[in-house]
Amino acid sequence: MAAVFPPDRPNPPDLVPFAEARAGVLERLVPLPVREAGLADAIGCVLAVDIAAAEDLPPFANSAMDGFAVRGADLAGAGEAAPVPLKLTGEVFAGTGRLPTVEPGAAVRIMTGGALPPGADTVVPVEQAAVEGDTVLVRLDPGPGRFVRAAGEDVRLGTVVLERGRVLDPAAVGMLASVGRKRVPVHPRPRVAVVSTGDELVDPGDPLGPGQIRDSNSWLLAAQARSAGAEAFRCGRLRDDPEALRRGFALAAAEGDLVVTSGGVSVGDRDYTKQVLATMGDVRSFKVAMQPGMPQAFGIAAGTPLYGLPGNPVSCFVVFETLVRPALRRLAGHADDRLDRPRVVARLGEPVRSPAGKVSFLRVRLAVGNEGLVASLTGNQGSGVLSSCVAADGLAVVPAEHRELPEGSPVQVLLLKEDLAWVS
Ligand code: AMP
Ligand code: MG
Repeated sequence: MAAVFPPDRPNPPDLVPFAEARAGVLERLVPLPVREAGLADAIGCVLAVDIAAAEDLPPFANSAMDGFAVRGADLAGAGEAAPVPLKLTGEVFAGTGRLPTVEPGAAVRIMTGGALPPGADTVVPVEQAAVEGDTVLVRLDPGPGRFVRAAGEDVRLGTVVLERGRVLDPAAVGMLASVGRKRVPVHPRPRVAVVSTGDELVDPGDPLGPGQIRDSNSWLLAAQARSAGAEAFRCGRLRDDPEALRRGFALAAAEGDLVVTSGGVSVGDRDYTKQVLATMGDVRSFKVAMQPGMPQAFGIAAGTPLYGLPGNPVSCFVVFETLVRPALRRLAGHADDRLDRPRVVARLGEPVRSPAGKVSFLRVRLAVGNEGLVASLTGNQGSGVLSSCVAADGLAVVPAEHRELPEGSPVQVLLLKEDLAWVS
């Protein structure tokens, strides 16, 4: 029986520990059903089956060089002073199907990738020979069998070339094409329907009236979802009105594999989101012992998983990275140890404070110091200060049991950017 999430607690509003919240979300999600994807769409998807080569790679013995296909035994004793003359009797290009036979004492001109003609077992590179009329003078014996790529030397027919669970990266896509696969079974990219809520919101580009602010969250969250490998679309900016919310969430649930909504999950007067979601299925609101991002909601609304995030943009950003991203990657079929952002250990460049009993995610910049990586705060850590995210290379994790950490303390940092090869 699935555990109740979040667990019923004797003293609301009790806080759900971060690890418990993460586990509770993940245990309700399974990878999306397997679908066939064409090679052009498969990049980034998780392979759902082992792929065995249906062909040898390369499929036939061929030349690794532009040169001459010969019988190696003919070249014994060849040298600068004693070039061996062979009779040129034909040519083979990459793609040539009808091959001339190489008789003893003969050579066939061959280009890189050309099939090794019958009789030949060796290729002499063009640099080691000279052509005079219909004779080729070989100045160097490359050794029998040299410069020939054997059939199946890269991959033998039947060998598993890519294992189930593997993310299809460019090399994997190249391998699929090489062994003749046009389509492969994968877990599809999750489709994320992003909704924002709030009477105060206007789109970028529209005039900003009194009391209004830009809807940044729906753009932010859609971008985060895409950078997590999902397909994401904005699916409505909803008024703080129960009926509008109900219709908006129903539409989003029908369109997406996951609904991500922001705002209205707190305790404000018009925070109807919680109430509406509670009527749409098994969706619960709860507070996670984390900063920023405490108020959240999660569950299955109208048959689709739904994550409700707090309205403050930094809270949105952090909750997405730490809780929604793993959920999305679970849907996408990634292995349990590949759900979270990669971590490095860094030393704090300054002392930090953290609220009692909550894990803090601090926006930090990373630099390479004398004793390894140094993590420094990007500035004001307020949950409305999006510039602290813009400048961040990572999120430094201060565990719930610490109220402060002195400068130099080692902390784990979740890496937010992919171009941080220099940090490891
Ligand atoms: P709420 O959780 O709805 O009470 O919102 C908390 C704070 O986040 C308020 O200052 C909201 O104006 C702000 N906020 C809510 N939704 C968005 C959004 N989509 N974009 C930017 N700020 C938002
Ligand atoms: Mg609101």
